[in-house]
Amino acid sequence: MNLPLHRAPFPASMAVEVDPARFASPHLVALNEALATELGFSPDWLRSPEGVALLSGQTHIKGVPAMAQAYAGHQFGQFVPQLGDGRAHLLGIVTDHAGQVHDMQLKGSGPTPFSRRGDGLAALGPVLREYLVSEAMAALGVPTTRALAAVTTGETVWRDRPQPGAVLTRIASSHLRVGTFQYFAAREDRESLEFLCALAIERHVPSAHDCENPIRALYESVVARQARLIAHWMSLGFVHGVMNTDNMTLSGETIDYGPCAFLDIYRHDKVFSSIDHNGRYAYVNQPRLAGWNLARLAETLLPFFDPDENRALTWAQEALGRFQDLYQEAWLARMRPKLGLTASETQDKALIETLLQIMEKDRMDWTLSFRRLARNDSLVEPTSSEALLDWMMEWQARRDREPVPAERQYALMRQSNPAVIARNHRVAEAITSAENGDFTVFENLLQRLRHPFADDSTYEMPPLPEQIVHATFCGT
Ligand code: AMP
Ligand code: MG
Repeated sequence: MNLPLHRAPFPASMAVEVDPARFASPHLVALNEALATELGFSPDWLRSPEGVALLSGQTHIKGVPAMAQAYAGHQFGQFVPQLGDGRAHLLGIVTDHAGQVHDMQLKGSGPTPFSRRGDGLAALGPVLREYLVSEAMAALGVPTTRALAAVTTGETVWRDRPQPGAVLTRIASSHLRVGTFQYFAAREDRESLEFLCALAIERHVPSAHDCENPIRALYESVVARQARLIAHWMSLGFVHGVMNTDNMTLSGETIDYGPCAFLDIYRHDKVFSSIDHNGRYAYVNQPRLAGWNLARLAETLLPFFDPDENRALTWAQEALGRFQDLYQEAWLARMRPKLGLTASETQDKALIETLLQIMEKDRMDWTLSFRRLARNDSLVEPTSSEALLDWMMEWQARRDREPVPAERQYALMRQSNPAVIARNHRVAEAITSAENGDFTVFENLLQRLRHPFADDSTYEMPPLPEQIVHATFCGT
């Protein structure tokens, strides 16, 4: 079989060649056939014993060794000079039909020199969680790494309880993280930083080649991408949960789905992650913390912005200073269509913010409330506040000033307000069934998540009080 997989371009200082672990009985439990085909893999071959061996790291192609990448990172604000792929193996790079290069990586595939005290393994629950949520995000149009496959290993992974072991195959337009740059900056390794910049430009911002200072153009592009990404998350009520600098990409893709979750009832300071004691990565803090991470990235690139330290710093502050404006712009561009608005009025921001305040006070479900607006269902219930009634009138008056007719406004809302998201209780239900050997709940949910903007009276329902998931876990 001629596989479309090639050696990743990293020198030994950036990635260690290391074989994945041997597993007793790898068994394919999920395969993303559409993605496989896009990447030039035959889904039938991936289902074959040789294919499953590849997807569980049991074989590799000659000359294409598996590698663990080095990176550092700020974890909850604390700098750790060495993290790295402690339970992941980069199998190689794949070029899709459109000519775009992607990394193909296994996660949960055994220890590496970066494992520290960890076992290098992943449990089935977190693997399926990343599979479901990343594919849901892709269907929603959010830049994200993708899930190509999930394999159970036949072995037990010891966490708070024994769990089935599993390996996820992840596709990413790269695994260059803010933390990757921090690793080499901390070692004052200018040559490696230059290499990383060149790779990031080649993969993510080829147009930067033509700029006077390509590394400045790269940084500006990362700032803009992250502003758009976080605005997209916010518009969908998505909480990443661990926005450490090692979990932020240069590509602008969402990466490392750990304790992530979508809001049910809207609360601006909602935290799900069981390890986020101070609420650093609460819903409302995400734009600010993205800016914080981008400042850490700027610090690694200062010498390339300008040989003069002061001028480099001034330039970086200006470039980073644009983040909040870009974010505000991107947020309005996401929120206006959610209310059916095509034109811009200065009071729109206040109109949106008032709705959010009411939603919080009235304990309204984020996703379902917006979807009901799109369906012209009344949001007003016996328990609704006077404020909501007032807001509905204000909104109507605003829509009356729209240049497009009401049907166009509703069509826009239906395209901007999903009915089906990866609700926490649904994800939990799919995982529990799978742990008991039944993958049909997972499969059904996955199929529904592929069509988020289609009405679905079952899957759109918020959790019943007893189904609410209050805390999420990294599962590592
Ligand atoms: P994460 O929380 O997934 O962003 O990971 C943070 C760091 O911990 C990374 O360096 C991971 O490679 C490492 N890590 C997480 N889980 C494990 C594990 N089970 N074994 C070894 N390293 C791990
Ligand atoms: Mg991570």
